Amino acid sequence: MGYQKPKGTVDILPGEVEKWQYVEAVARSVFKKYDIHEMRTPMFEHIEVITRAVGDTTDIVTKEMYDFEDKGGRHITLRPENTAPLVRSYVENKLFGPEHQNPFKAFYIGPMFRYERPQAGRLRQFHQIGIEMIGSNNPTIDVEGILSALDFYKELGIEHTQLVINSLGTKECRMKYRQALIDYLEPKYDELSKDSQRRLHDNPLRVLDSKDEKDKVIVENAPSILDYLDEYSDKFFNDVKELLDAVGVEYIVDHRMVRGLDYYNHTVFEIMSNAPGFNGAITTICAGGRYDGLVKELGGPETHDSAFGYALGLERAIITMDAEGIEIPTKPVVDVYVVGLGEKTNKESLKLVQAARNSGFVAERDYLNRKAKAQFKSADKLNAKVVLTIGEDELENQVVRLKDMVNKTEETVTLEVIYTDFKGIVEKIINK
Ligand code: ATP
Ligand code: MG
Repeated sequence: MGYQKPKGTVDILPGEVEKWQYVEAVARSVFKKYDIHEMRTPMFEHIEVITRAVGDTTDIVTKEMYDFEDKGGRHITLRPENTAPLVRSYVENKLFGPEHQNPFKAFYIGPMFRYERPQAGRLRQFHQIGIEMIGSNNPTIDVEGILSALDFYKELGIEHTQLVINSLGTKECRMKYRQALIDYLEPKYDELSKDSQRRLHDNPLRVLDSKDEKDKVIVENAPSILDYLDEYSDKFFNDVKELLDAVGVEYIVDHRMVRGLDYYNHTVFEIMSNAPGFNGAITTICAGGRYDGLVKELGGPETHDSAFGYALGLERAIITMDAEGIEIPTKPVVDVYVVGLGEKTNKESLKLVQAARNSGFVAERDYLNRKAKAQFKSADKLNAKVVLTIGEDELENQVVRLKDMVNKTEETVTLEVIYTDFKGIVEKIINK
């Protein structure tokens, strides 16, 4: 019996991988316009980088991390997210120095790991595209960040999106709010779900995020964090809203929206999709916010301790495209197919297929010494535009037959001629 991939992982096969490449290419082109540059950090980190940043009472840290001791006794985790690793790298490599972009703007694309119950759009190895902009507390950073995510979905053709924003204020505001929330929830303790009971004292804001139906009803009348914002936080949030208005972006404010990572403050946002294919279900496809304080927490300078970022799920972007009925061309496209008939033609077929590749064409051939009919069938399946046929007779006469697969015409050319100007001859047929 063969082996199976670990639970919650997928093999991205040819035919599917083209979608990934397309989505990644769109992301790269959008970020380029924002002058956001790629960064690649390791897939694993010292566990403290994550626990310190994400918070050790969060679900990610308490339940979802893949962590282990390596052979050198180091406590390692597969990264569950990329913000903390990227900030770790920012500090470690002193990317706040005068020779660097300020604010520093970086994006990443790659796998993240969380031990979760796998279901549609929820995996154990999943992939995120995200950005981090570090070093400015200008609210336009928040707005440009959000705009870059919206641009990405728009470029993909995803239309049914909803931007939801909220403010978590400063840490001080949040501590006051936290107490008010505990005071509100405590008398209702017995009615709360097990998870929420546990969270009530550890991380009460997470109760607002509960997916339990009964919890949702209880939370409906909970105090609003927006009533606990101090002057700076209140102004900051108003600035963000005004700036979003100024660029004509629609949003709704949901004072119950909190994020599952402790480093967020001030602006938090989510982009939701209600694509027709989701049949009324609403899914979060992108999430992020401001995280002033994290750079310092991870050892960086106070002068660059303001930041904003988000992460979006690649799998969910692809599912959403499907749910919007957007098609990505995944048809194989081969320019040139070489049909070699008889074992003696094997060497000349190699020369022809390489001549095609060296001339810039996508080229494929037969390797199994199959009959002409089977080879032409392969050429058709690959949507080949030109077929070069060489049989033993052609080889003896030092010629090759060139078939225009679109116009169904054929001509014979000497090998000498075709090797002199492969590119020109084949291009003429393709462009006919
Ligand atoms: P959720 O509430 O769905 O668990 P989250 O708050 O844990 O999401 P973040 O950590 O903010 O999500 O990650 C941002 C985005 O990454 C999500 O909106 C989603 O698109 C994607 N994502 C998160 N976890 C997974 C997963 N296990 N599998 C696939 N995509 C995921
Ligand atoms: Mg989660």
